[in-house]
Amino acid sequence: MSVTNRNHAIESASQHIVQSGPLPNDGTAPIDYYGKDVFNASAIRKYLSRGAAEKLLATIQDGARLDPSVAGDVAHAMKDWAISRGATHFTHWFQPMTGGTAEKHDAFLDLNEQGEAIMTFSGRNLVKSEPDASSFPSGGLRCTFEARGYTAWDPTSPAFIKRNPHGATLCIPSIFCSYTGEVLDKKIPLLRSLQALKQSLSRFMACFNEPPAHITVTLGAEQEYFLVDKAFYLQRPDLIQTGRTLFGAPPARHQQLDDHYFGAIRPRVINFMAEVEEELWRLGIPAKTRHNEVAPAQFELAPTFEELNLAVDHNMLTMEILQRVAEKNGLVCLLHEKPFAGVNGSGKHNNWSVTYGQRNLLDPGPDPRNNPVFIAFLTALIRATDLHSDLLRCSTVTAGNDYRLGANEAPPAIVSIYLGERLTETLQQVEAGVFKEYHSKAPKLKVGVETAPNIESDDSDRNRTSPFAFTGNKFEFRACGSSQSCAEFNTFFNVAVAESLDYLSDKLKMIGDPKEFDAQLQKILAEVIQKHKRIVYNGNNYSSGWIEEAKRRGLPNLQTALEALTPLLDSRNHQLMEKYGVFSAIELESRYEICSEEYLRKIQIEGEVASDMALNMILPIAEKYYGSLVKTLQIANEVGVTAGTISLKKTIETLGSKIDQLLLSIDKLAELKVVNVDNCQEYIQITRELRTAVDALEKLVDDHEWPLPKYREMLFVL
Ligand code: ADP
Ligand code: MG
Repeated sequence: MSVTNRNHAIESASQHIVQSGPLPNDGTAPIDYYGKDVFNASAIRKYLSRGAAEKLLATIQDGARLDPSVAGDVAHAMKDWAISRGATHFTHWFQPMTGGTAEKHDAFLDLNEQGEAIMTFSGRNLVKSEPDASSFPSGGLRCTFEARGYTAWDPTSPAFIKRNPHGATLCIPSIFCSYTGEVLDKKIPLLRSLQALKQSLSRFMACFNEPPAHITVTLGAEQEYFLVDKAFYLQRPDLIQTGRTLFGAPPARHQQLDDHYFGAIRPRVINFMAEVEEELWRLGIPAKTRHNEVAPAQFELAPTFEELNLAVDHNMLTMEILQRVAEKNGLVCLLHEKPFAGVNGSGKHNNWSVTYGQRNLLDPGPDPRNNPVFIAFLTALIRATDLHSDLLRCSTVTAGNDYRLGANEAPPAIVSIYLGERLTETLQQVEAGVFKEYHSKAPKLKVGVETAPNIESDDSDRNRTSPFAFTGNKFEFRACGSSQSCAEFNTFFNVAVAESLDYLSDKLKMIGDPKEFDAQLQKILAEVIQKHKRIVYNGNNYSSGWIEEAKRRGLPNLQTALEALTPLLDSRNHQLMEKYGVFSAIELESRYEICSEEYLRKIQIEGEVASDMALNMILPIAEKYYGSLVKTLQIANEVGVTAGTISLKKTIETLGSKIDQLLLSIDKLAELKVVNVDNCQEYIQITRELRTAVDALEKLVDDHEWPLPKYREMLFVL
C-alpha cells in the first residue's frame, strides 16, 4: 500500500511537469489592469463627489484625520465600485495575533420593509464592525464575558477586492481591539509607532532648520518560500500538520553545487510565478523581482518598496496569494522558516528607510561628511539598535525561525549592524573630530571584456551574514522569518528610532549659538558613536569568533525563542512603549503570553506528530524489513551458507538498535506529556533524537517500502 502511495505521488508530480504549458497570452499588459481591484485614487475620484474625494485622499496621503461626515458617502461609493467589480460581500480584513489575517463576510444583500432585495452598505458598516473576539488570542487581556471585539476601518490602506471562482468580496483593511480598547492586533501598534516616529523626526529635522515636509516610512519586504508538489505534500502528515518535514535523510545532492540560486526558472514554476504576479498587480501590489533561491525548490519574490503600513498589508496578501495560486497549480507553497533540514531555510528581508519630502534620509549622497542630517540620522539608528537590540531579536520569534537563526545560512541571534568600510570610516572620523579624504579600498572592476561597459564596484561589499545591514540607501533587517508579519519588527524599530531621535533633538536644542551648531553637533554625535559603536560589526557573523567577541562587547545573545521573548516582560521596554503610546505594559505582557504559549503548543504538536508517524508509518515498515532479514539469516544458517551472514547480522543489529532508539524516544516524549517553559528544550532534543533514528532507518530500509516521499523527490521533482 505504502509503496504505491509514494510511487503514485512521484508519478503524479511528473505528470504535472509535463502538462504545464505557457499561460495564454491575450495581449493585455500589466499596466492595463494594475490596481484595478483597489479602491485607489482614481476609483475614489470616479465614484465620490469632489469634496468627499479630496477629504478621503487627504487622509490617505497626508494622514489627516478623516471627517466622520464623509463616511456615509465613502461607503456608498465603495459599494457601487465593489459591485461593479463583481463583489457580493464585504468584510473588515484584520490582523489578529494568530499571525495571519481574519475576515468575516456579510452580503451587501438585504431586505427592505417590503421584503424586497436591496444592496446596502452604510457608513456604519464601513467604519466599525463587531466580531465575536472570544476565539482570537488575547493573552489574558479579555475575559470571555467581555468577548466583544471591535474592528475599525484603517482608511490609510485602501480597500480591495478578493476574488474566488464564484464571486468576490470587498475587503476593508481594519484594526482590531477589545471592548475596553486594548490592542488585539498587529496593525494598531504599527500605526501608533509610525505616528510616534513621524513626530520625533519632525522635531529632529527642525533642529537642522529643515522646513516641515511630508514623511513616509518605507518598507520593501523580500519574501522567500518553497514549492513542493501537492502529491508529495499529501503523503507527508508532518508537512500537513506542522508545515515542515520532521523526518527526512539528506539526499546525496542538495544545495552543495550552488546551481539553483539564480538558475533558469523551471517552466512549471515560472507559470506559477506569473499567475501570482498577475493577481498581485491587480491588487496594486508592485511585485518586482523573482528568482530561484539557494536551496533546491526555494524561491523569492520582492516588491518595489512602499509606505510601511501598506507594505505590511501587501506582504500579508502576498503570502496568501502565493499559497492560493500554488494550490491551483497542484503545488503547495511552504512559508515555514525551515521546512527541510540540511538546506537553507526561508527568511523575510525588511528593507527600511524614511523619505522626507522627496529625499531619502538614508541616501548618503556623494560625500556623507557633507550630509550632517544623514550622519546624525545614521547615528540615531545605531543608538536605537544598540539600546533596543533585545526587542528587535524578540520580533523575530517563531517556532520555525528557531531552527534557522544561528545556523550557517541565516543571521545569528546576536543583533549587530553592518555599515561597510566607507561609513565605518566616516563615523570614526566624526568620533575623532578629524576629517581625512576618503580613498576607497574597493577594487576597480576590470572584467577583461572589451565590449563590456565599465562597472563601478560598490563601495561597501554586501555582507550577507549580518542581521542588519546598510545596503546603500536603506537598512535591511534579515532575521525575520518567512512566515511572519513584518509588523512586529517595524513597530519596535520605529519606536526605538523615535526615542533616539528625541535624545539627539534634546541635545541639539540646547545649543545656544547657531554658529556653534556644527562643532556641537560633532561633539554630541561623537559621544553617541563612542558609546554605541559596539553594535557595529562588519565581519563574518557566522564565525564562532563573533560569538566570543559579541560576548566581550556585552551584546545580548538570546538564543532560544523563549529567551528571546523575555524582553516583552522587561520594565525598561514597558516604559519605552508607554512613553510613545504604542503599548501598555499589560499589552506587552499579553503578547509574551500569546507568543510563548503558541511556541510551546507548536513544539508539542511537532513531538506528537513525529511520534504518530514513527509509530504508525515507520515502525511497521522497519519491523517488517527487520523480520525479512532475520528470516533470510535463518535460512542461510539452515542451508549452511556462511558468506554474507556476518554483514547480514550486522545490518540486523543496526536496524534493531535504531528501532529501539525510535521506541525509546517516543516513550520519553510521552513521559514529558505537556511541554512547558522548563522541559521545552528537553522535548525538542528528544524529538531530534527520534528524527535521528528515523533518518537512519530511511537509509537502511528497502527503498521500495519507505512510505514517506524522500527529500530527493520533494526537492527535485517539480
Ligand atoms: P537584495 O536581494 O540584494 O537584498 P532586492 O533588489 O531583491 O535586493 O530587494 C531590495 C528591496 O529593497 C526591494 O524590495 C526594494 O524595493 C527595497 N528598497 C529599495 N529602496 C528602498 C527604500 N528606500 N526603502 C525601503 N525599501 C527599499
Ligand atoms: Mg535582501
